Amino acid sequence: MPNIDEKLQPILAEVTRRNAGEPEFHQAVHEVLESLGRVVAKHPHYLDLALIERICEPERQIIFRIPWTDDKGQVQINRGFRVQFNSALGPYKGGMRFHPSVNLGIIKFLGFEQTFKNALTGMPIGGGKGGSDFDLKGRSDAEIMRFCQSLMTEMHRYLGEQTDVPAGDIGVGGREIGYMFGQYKRLTNRYEAGVFTGKGLAYGGSRARTEATGYGNTYFTQAMLQTRGTDFDGKTVVVSGSGNVAIYTIEKVQSFGGKVIACSDSSGYILDENGLDLALLKEIKDQRRERVSEYARIKGEGVHFIAADKGTIWDVPCDVAMPSATQNELSGKDARILVKNGVIAVGEGANMPSTPEAVKVFQEAGILFAPGKAANAGGVATSALEMQQNASRDSWTFEQTEARLATIMRNIHDTCHQTAEEYGAPGDYVLGANIAGFVRVAEAMRMMGVI
Ligand code: GLU
Repeated sequence: MPNIDEKLQPILAEVTRRNAGEPEFHQAVHEVLESLGRVVAKHPHYLDLALIERICEPERQIIFRIPWTDDKGQVQINRGFRVQFNSALGPYKGGMRFHPSVNLGIIKFLGFEQTFKNALTGMPIGGGKGGSDFDLKGRSDAEIMRFCQSLMTEMHRYLGEQTDVPAGDIGVGGREIGYMFGQYKRLTNRYEAGVFTGKGLAYGGSRARTEATGYGNTYFTQAMLQTRGTDFDGKTVVVSGSGNVAIYTIEKVQSFGGKVIACSDSSGYILDENGLDLALLKEIKDQRRERVSEYARIKGEGVHFIAADKGTIWDVPCDVAMPSATQNELSGKDARILVKNGVIAVGEGANMPSTPEAVKVFQEAGILFAPGKAANAGGVATSALEMQQNASRDSWTFEQTEARLATIMRNIHDTCHQTAEEYGAPGDYVLGANIAGFVRVAEAMRMMGVI
């Protein structure tokens, strides 16, 4: 553990021992502890009362069985998780992820990251995350509904607008949230709009929530580019993924004058040197729920689909890279290729998409690098705005909501930037985000005593 302060090394050793076989969680804790050396050197009181040890231990971890019946009448079993990580700043808040790769370690890493991300937004929300190893691929609407209802039959007892407020993540969008909220309402006999965010506009959702993560990352990356006297205008941009985060990143980058030439899904990536046709991409992904290769098939000449076993999207030369698919999707090797091809900025739309080696490569090359826990915080920040609207039984315009989002992203950027400077590492957004997020959570915990 060469980069970790001596006093913090036993904490990581204990986290690794206690959470055996959870590499993503170890990775997330490792990265935060690496940044905290400078904090405890300046403010040794954060070492007292096992404060850091407590921050690394979730307050509650729930694992449950989800039985459901498929369209053929066969009973299927999935595993459900909700990790209520930290409630020092407010009710647990964080999305649900449905993907076959989901396990406890992944949900724990996401819940840990969420705690600091939510703190950075400046909103009164704690950190949590949940999900299931359920695979949506090939499932009918009716199957997805029965699955969501079964999940909620168990999970409803742990939720509440003052307790724990889930939302979406990979595999969980408006459709799934509708089914889960509906079942919660039925079971509890309460119209508790603020218990879920990412809801449909027809029943208490917020305008701009769908767009918020991608828009927010674009605002953050734009602010970062401005520190070097430039912006998105005329830049070539690559955005991995093709889900909600990627689509609305592409939309905002285009509106800022950037040219997005590639995006991807797990089967491969598409390259359109003329700039992606967003209307077509939205139709393929949102309405038809098809693969990105369909885009190349429809467009024909000049547009390429490169299958996942033939190369990665990071081979495409670009000025700005915005990884918006999933954790550890961008390796050290990919980072070296991007640097060689002249990338100037990386804004993470996904949670922890760059491996630790990739982050090191970017930072050593002097590339502007925005970690997901800061750059993608616009999604959850707008969830907190949705909670505000629900609490006041109000509904804001798109412009009003987006204006709040833009201000929040500017504040997060400036906080990370200033914190990095204050701690002697100007331009290091990883350090700035980790320290600023940590200090907010740690201060609240310190005042509340040993709980
Ligand atoms: N899943 C999103 C995230 O990673 C949003 C969570 C939320 O809105 O609660 O931040």
